[in-house]
Amino acid sequence: MSRVHNFAAGPAALPESVLRQAQEEMLDWHGVGASIVELSHRGPEFIQVATEAEADLRRLLSIPDNYAVLFLGGGATTVQALLPLNFAAPGQAADYVLSGHWGKTAIKQARPYVAAHVAATSEADGFRTIPAREGWQLSKDAAYVHITANETIHGVEFRDTPDVGDVPLFADFSSSIASEPIDVSRYGVIYAGAQKNLGPVGVTVVIIRRDLLERAGQPRADILDYRSHVKGESMLNTPPSWNWYLLGLTVKWMLAEGGVDEFARRSARKSGLLYDVIDNSGGFYRNEVDKAVRSRMNVPFFLHDDALDKPFLKEAAEVGLISLKGHRALGGMRASIYNAMPEAGVQALADFMRDFQRRHG
Ligand code: PLP
Repeated sequence: MSRVHNFAAGPAALPESVLRQAQEEMLDWHGVGASIVELSHRGPEFIQVATEAEADLRRLLSIPDNYAVLFLGGGATTVQALLPLNFAAPGQAADYVLSGHWGKTAIKQARPYVAAHVAATSEADGFRTIPAREGWQLSKDAAYVHITANETIHGVEFRDTPDVGDVPLFADFSSSIASEPIDVSRYGVIYAGAQKNLGPVGVTVVIIRRDLLERAGQPRADILDYRSHVKGESMLNTPPSWNWYLLGLTVKWMLAEGGVDEFARRSARKSGLLYDVIDNSGGFYRNEVDKAVRSRMNVPFFLHDDALDKPFLKEAAEVGLISLKGHRALGGMRASIYNAMPEAGVQALADFMRDFQRRHG
């Protein structure tokens, strides 16, 4: 069996060594004679897996002790609804900086619970930039400011943590977490669905500055309350144990590979390879994002003639390069190159793109 290079945006490729280890341990986890997914989440075996995953993630991301880390189901979209319920008073404003599709989703999920205010948006230019900090119209007494660190569909990424003063900064890091060092202490909440850089779909990481948990928020069921989840150590109900286990293996792999500093270097090289091919193609390929904020994780691009889209995808798949079709909201192509995508995979795509241009240009 040969594995292809999979450029899917999420669920995305996992490190091959993680999949092999999971395969080996599937029937018999560490001599127990049963799979970890068959054991109680409250038993010593899974508690060990869960505790190690948290400790390893704290080490990988340098998460300070005054932050709680949760591993929950529901995806990033559920977090987007729970943020106002947990951290905004009824009728309070919250500021959203809109730089693409997922920022819109965040606002849509929050609207029933908070006066969601668009403090800045790059929508008028088709989300090809990040709105400059000087132009943000922040509300007085906002509960928080929300940003999307990396817009998975539009391929724009914050390259710096914006300064929002004393208001807590909440950030959706679903598609760029662990791809470079970040100063967690600059954020109130960081959240990410795991299915891009952290492991498999089905588990969501929420990192919360503990003092924010003292906020009353709004009336809500216990299961929607982050205080209860922190108290229950993410086991208020049955957690997504298989996904949590795979996340743990993926985090161990990232630590062994050199951690976030190493992935920052690899991401710069990988994305650089593709942007170079695009920018030097004489217009055969096009990426219209402001170069200063181009995503290092998701590279959307268009061919000069969309009649070539189908042949491009077909020929790419024939040489083992799959999942390059762009999101339906934008069309064109998109190469998602998260941590698990080896440099050889990106080099193979860059070579294919040059060759395709030679044959069809
Ligand atoms: N935020 C970003 C940046 C995403 O890329 C995605 C999914 O691709 C989501 C949120 C939605 O995540 P989920 O499907 O885990 O709810």
